[in-house]
Amino acid sequence: MHLFTACLGTETNTFSPIPTGRRLFEETYLVRGGAYGENPDLFALPMMVFRDRARQLGWRVTESLCAFAVPAGPTIDRVYATYRDEILADLARAGKVDGVLLSLHGAMVAETIASCETDLVRHIRAAVGPGVPIGVELDLHCHLTEELVATADAIVIFKEYPHVDAAERAGELFSIIAGAVEGRLRPRMAMFDCRMIGLYPTTLEPMAGFVQRMRELEGKDGILSISLAHGFPWGDVPELGTRVVAIGDGDSARALELAVELGRELRGLRARIEPPWTPLDAGLDQAVAANEGPIVLADVSDNAGGGAPSDSTFVLRAMLERQMGRAALGCFWDPGTVALAFEAGEGARLTVRLGGKLGAMSGDPIDLAVRVKSLRRDVHQHYLGGSKARMGDMAALSIEDADEVDVVVNSVRAQTFSPDAFTQLGIEPAAKRYVVVKSMNHFRAGFAPLARHIIYLSAPGAIDVDYTRLPYRRVQRPIYPLDSHAWD
Ligand SMILES: [Zn+2]
Repeated sequence: MHLFTACLGTETNTFSPIPTGRRLFEETYLVRGGAYGENPDLFALPMMVFRDRARQLGWRVTESLCAFAVPAGPTIDRVYATYRDEILADLARAGKVDGVLLSLHGAMVAETIASCETDLVRHIRAAVGPGVPIGVELDLHCHLTEELVATADAIVIFKEYPHVDAAERAGELFSIIAGAVEGRLRPRMAMFDCRMIGLYPTTLEPMAGFVQRMRELEGKDGILSISLAHGFPWGDVPELGTRVVAIGDGDSARALELAVELGRELRGLRARIEPPWTPLDAGLDQAVAANEGPIVLADVSDNAGGGAPSDSTFVLRAMLERQMGRAALGCFWDPGTVALAFEAGEGARLTVRLGGKLGAMSGDPIDLAVRVKSLRRDVHQHYLGGSKARMGDMAALSIEDADEVDVVVNSVRAQTFSPDAFTQLGIEPAAKRYVVVKSMNHFRAGFAPLARHIIYLSAPGAIDVDYTRLPYRRVQRPIYPLDSHAWD
């Protein structure tokens, strides 16, 4: 048997001012022919699983492009088309293939293409014909389109947010597609559209229980897999929203029944599955009042992982005004400040104009007198499951006239999800009273073990968590919570 694999993705925040072009892919992760290297991206992990499982079966594997860009604004059309056409050219060169496995995100939007994943799979289907099974693994922050479900044979989506299960889901998808290739399984998908927008971390109840229930329903009554596409609230596309997809073996009556049942159940949980967002001032009041640190404050509105600039200054400014000491904040994307810090060297004293560069949603820059505490070149952040994320060159700056307030600045924009974003710069988050991370929820896997309290701050920023305030134009209506009659 001959398997073809490829990976292409990003998570597009259509409200972000940062264009996604060739440089962003090259800077984040772009390898060819299976050369995943020492620092595999999260979306490379499925590719590695597909290859290993195929080889265990004695199959031949042709590995095409594996490219991922840290989330930002819409991808430039010609950049997407170039990568897509590279994958299609590799597929044509590969000759006859028996199966195709793709590691995609599901929320990649180009200037004039609302779903790059749908476009890519449409082209691959046209190339391989109707008889070759196509399996797709997606991030749960995806826009699951009707056409994608109709065109692929099996779609398996991460179940966990934080995404600690990318490799595990890849193994499941491989088993389903291998069964189809060998003629043992006939995967058929059924989908239910919940008509709702939201963000649902799976480490909190009742979402954790919902994920457990999906797992328990798999592997019996002919159900091969059940996934929940959470959707990505900052991608203004027609098919934005939460959907359940179930894969049955053959007849999909049971699959449809379960998709509908689970989708309705999720609607019932709606009021309890969003994180407890706390407005900035109230959140800082809570942090100051807490007896014990470290208190981890998530600056969710400036999460680079959701396409935000990661240079907003609202939280830092408010903490300095309140004289909140023994704090570490990161990571600010400010390549200019990093360059000045490297030029000055460790131990040097500088004045910097930090953050607030990308637009009004980042707030105003802050003028600070700082001491360069430490410098590191080409830093990577570790994520559970073995993937790594590039941070570029990094500087830790101690703010003069503040009580042990350290700010970490990076040259490659990245979400702060691991304590080693600080420890590699000589800052111990566990020894601080306040730790501010520019992250929506991925920080939990690494920071929850050291946090005495976690507060999800709803500060101003590019990722507003009040969906009713977002300037949606394209999403199909009605939908909860934009429309009160969404479920009539
Ligand atoms: Zn995600």
